[in-house]
Amino acid sequence: MSATRVLVLNSGSSSVKYQLLDMRDTSRLAVGLVERIGERTSRLRHTPLMRGGDSRETNGPIADHEAALKAVADELARDGLGLDSAELTAIGHRVVHGGRRFTEPTVVDDAVLTEIERLIPVAPLHNPANLTGLRTAMALRPDLPQVAVFDTAFHTTMPESAARYAIDVETADAHRVRRYGFHGTSHAYVSRETARLLGRAPEDVNVIVLHLGNGASASAVRGGVCVDTSMGLTPLEGLVMGTRSGDLDPAVIFHLMRVGNMSADEIDVLLNKRSGLVGLCGDNDMREIRRRVDAGDERARLAFDIYIHRLRKYIGAYYAVLGRVDAVAFTAGVGENSAPVREAAVADLTELGLAVDGELNAVRADGPRLISPPGARVAVAVVPTDEELEIATQTYALVGGGDAAPHARP
Ligand code: ADP
Repeated sequence: MSATRVLVLNSGSSSVKYQLLDMRDTSRLAVGLVERIGERTSRLRHTPLMRGGDSRETNGPIADHEAALKAVADELARDGLGLDSAELTAIGHRVVHGGRRFTEPTVVDDAVLTEIERLIPVAPLHNPANLTGLRTAMALRPDLPQVAVFDTAFHTTMPESAARYAIDVETADAHRVRRYGFHGTSHAYVSRETARLLGRAPEDVNVIVLHLGNGASASAVRGGVCVDTSMGLTPLEGLVMGTRSGDLDPAVIFHLMRVGNMSADEIDVLLNKRSGLVGLCGDNDMREIRRRVDAGDERARLAFDIYIHRLRKYIGAYYAVLGRVDAVAFTAGVGENSAPVREAAVADLTELGLAVDGELNAVRADGPRLISPPGARVAVAVVPTDEELEIATQTYALVGGGDAAPHARP
């Protein structure tokens, strides 16, 4: 029997999330998370999913990513799923920034590692951790294909008119300043799943995807191809997010430097960590914000209204970018769970063919579903994202024979 298992690793600065999938039926065999790597209070939570196993938790210091991955390997081995298993066909890694070069999932070798390293200046928070995860996994299983799946890859099809900022071309090119976009694995998966929900081929469908998690981004996808997205050089641009400002006049930054005496690093922290919903009202969890709105809290109301106003601007913008829209798909934590956000996002847009049905919108369910009124000109859908499945599918398609039929890339 050929090897059909793929381990998916998502290495953050102080955490590693992982899932082991069997690509014959895309079932999960185990999932887990290592948190607070490098601290004394590190924690590994491992859940074997075959035969309904119970979660196991290990607490105690895990010094670095190498120790974290070894601990994960030990946990997997306890269930007979160790990294030395002959059934493991590849490891798929989430890599945040692939620049312009990586337009597809890529088997990692030394040259690829060097290129990912070269991109650190445009992804200082993410690429170093992704690299550490890659290097550690390669040291543990040097013989196994390790595949990098890039958050930016799906957006590399954006035309220059969408990808370039209107600044001096030589300066922009010298410093690789352009719009790359992120969450691409999610936008790819959700736009394709939306076409499937409509019973149509991805090539025939134009979709606006709204990935609303703690980080949030919108994309315009024409016939399966991304033509615009709201995040830019970094994940700071675009929608109002949990802790990030999204769009603002760039002169705000010089103003804060000159008049507020703030340093570039201080403004970086302000815009990435102390802005967005948390900056506006002190909370970044949409559940809590809605609870406060319902209790009459003015600041929470303003934060919600600003969030929705920006979201509606992007829906309008991408409607114009696409010309014809077949579906608007909501995904990620807020998009999948917040009926009030979905309702407000398309309220009074019937002229554009957009509406939600109150009853359908209120239903809580796990799978993809339509929430627009029957017969609506534009489908409005809730489509749960699954970035790990998409990474595993792309990895398996590249190295495992590519017969993961249900989700294979077109
Ligand atoms: P991340 O960007 O961290 O991957 P997620 O996609 O998991 O984020 O989204 C997390 C956010 O989803 C939370 O901050 C919260 O605002 C929102 N969220 C989660 N569950 C609900 C819910 N039941 N109702 C409203 N919002 C929710």
